[in-house]
Amino acid sequence: MIYCCQTKCCHYLFCGSEQQTTCPDCGHKRIRPATREERAAFFRQRTALLAAERRPG
Ligand SMILES: [Zn+2]
Repeated sequence: MIYCCQTKCCHYLFCGSEQQTTCPDCGHKRIRPATREERAAFFRQRTALLAAERRPG
């Protein structure tokens, strides 16, 4: 499940379990399930990172 941190100035997107209650980035308990757009952004970001790592040279 993808979550989004609602803490001001954080807005961290992360993948967590159903029991996840705190943001792994700032540690605040202000997370909510990410919206469809946020999930799409999260996967785009990860895909871009993986592609960068696989690039030869
Ligand atoms: Zn946070």
